[in-house]
Amino acid sequence: MNLENFELIYKENRVKIKDKAKIKSKLGEIVGNENVSDKEIDILAYNKDTTLITLNWTLEGKIAALPDFIVWPETPEQISSILRLANEEKIPVIPFSEGSGVVGGAIPIYGGIILDMKKFNKILEINDKDLTVTCEAGINGMNLERYLNAKGYTGGHIPQSLYTSSVGGWIAHRAAGQFSSKYGKIEDIVMGMELVLPQGDIIKFKTIARASTGPQLDKLFIGNEGTLGIVTKATLKIWPYPEKRALISYAFPTFEDSLEATRQILRQQIYPAVIRIYDADETNRHFGHIEKAKDKVMVVFVCEGIERLVDLEETITRETCEKNNGIYCGEAPVEHWFETRFKVTETSSTPTFKIVADTIEIGFLWDKAADMYHSVIEATKKIQGVMMMTAHVSHFYPNGVGFYFTFAGIPPKEKTDFEFYQEVWNCVVKTVLDMGGTISHHHGIGLNRAQWMPVEWGKSFDTLKSIKKLLDPNNILNPGKVYESAWKEGGRN
Ligand SMILES: Cc1cc2nc3c(=O)[nH]c(=O)nc-3n(C[C@H](O)[C@H](O)[C@H](O)COP(=O)(O)OP(=O)(O)OC[C@H]3O[C@@H](n4cnc5c(N)ncnc54)[C@H](O)[C@@H]3O)c2cc1C
Repeated sequence: MNLENFELIYKENRVKIKDKAKIKSKLGEIVGNENVSDKEIDILAYNKDTTLITLNWTLEGKIAALPDFIVWPETPEQISSILRLANEEKIPVIPFSEGSGVVGGAIPIYGGIILDMKKFNKILEINDKDLTVTCEAGINGMNLERYLNAKGYTGGHIPQSLYTSSVGGWIAHRAAGQFSSKYGKIEDIVMGMELVLPQGDIIKFKTIARASTGPQLDKLFIGNEGTLGIVTKATLKIWPYPEKRALISYAFPTFEDSLEATRQILRQQIYPAVIRIYDADETNRHFGHIEKAKDKVMVVFVCEGIERLVDLEETITRETCEKNNGIYCGEAPVEHWFETRFKVTETSSTPTFKIVADTIEIGFLWDKAADMYHSVIEATKKIQGVMMMTAHVSHFYPNGVGFYFTFAGIPPKEKTDFEFYQEVWNCVVKTVLDMGGTISHHHGIGLNRAQWMPVEWGKSFDTLKSIKKLLDPNNILNPGKVYESAWKEGGRN
């Protein structure tokens, strides 16, 4: 195989490493020669993450980006030495865990060193009294959850990518799991951390339930997307495995009814672990076999915990749904959801049919949530080539919600896949920003949302960029992401 024969999407501004043999040998001295590679087959394997448009590129024989080296360190000290070397030589370093990110965060757009975290895979300690687990950051999410379940606990953080994501990846992009209304998002779950800063310093945030010790610096690193530090270890909250689970589902005549019912449930301080509203199109797609749900809006709930509390949560959830025109659909739809909740072939297989698709999750306060949903659907359906634009609501707070849109279409002849893809993204983001929402609820910024950061953050974006500059003056840690927009220029097809 000769990689020169393939079109490289991100080739401009690639770092030129003068003496590759010297760098390889220095990396080998740090991590051992067996833990460094510049073989074509390896660097090709790390050309992208799971951003859907990159799969369209792959099928067209194009490569998103190529790193120069892959390293598999095992200790924070090794990472520290790699970062010191990278600073001396001005070579980008891109943290990479399981590559399930969907916003291009781990794509090595300027080449450099991919720092694969998979050897950081140990579970170090469970503390039953404190209800914590301490583990290395590269551990696979499903391996951690299975281990906890076997010991009688749950971590409560169950993203759809559980099988293909890591603790470090969750922390890096402020992830949200399917059971988040009860257990919280990752920022609620992390209690302590160890990180390596861009210039090689190793820092630790002690495990504590809460502190009043000045600004909480640890929070700066939750959501840093591998640009301010590399997470090597974390202590997370755990909970006793639930004694009981109640599976509840209701079909609502309108989207508004379903939003109103869930809002009222949360207002009563009832937090079902799982709440998911599927708009009418998604209801027909996922629950077409449930007669009562036909052309309606399906909502599934899972209440879990100790039996007495679950019973009360179930009673209040059901009463509130019925008050808001909900039609009870029993346990079967929720059982179906449990069986299919990790299945994503619907969207991930679309590029094989030359369809351009993606998912866009955003956050909104309750007040204009329904208006925002209708505005996004109406605006995007006007775009030539869009065949489908649907949504579900999967994250809930007493004050607002996280929406998850899915689009698919075939670009008109005069547009490339990427131009069409950007047109839809632009339309959704503009609508959301104009109406006061946030451009990402949990997938992060990475490469493809960085262009909107100045609008999302306003003046405070300058402060954020100053912090990046202070911690990473040579801009070697995951450059081209979050603070600068390389997506527009780079991703041409
Ligand atoms: C099918 C599917 C379902 C998904 N479902 C969800 C969901 O339910 N909830 C949700 O929140 N997200 C979801 N995601 C997106 C989410 O980004 C990833 O699944 C995941 O959390 C990223 O973890 P990872 O280990 O794969 O990280 P990667 O993809 O390897 O990296 C993601 C980003 O984090 C950085 N990074 C990785 N490890 C570290 C580290 N140790 N220290 C510092 N930076 C690091 C990388 O540089 C990159 O910027 C889904 C993605 C897919 C493909």
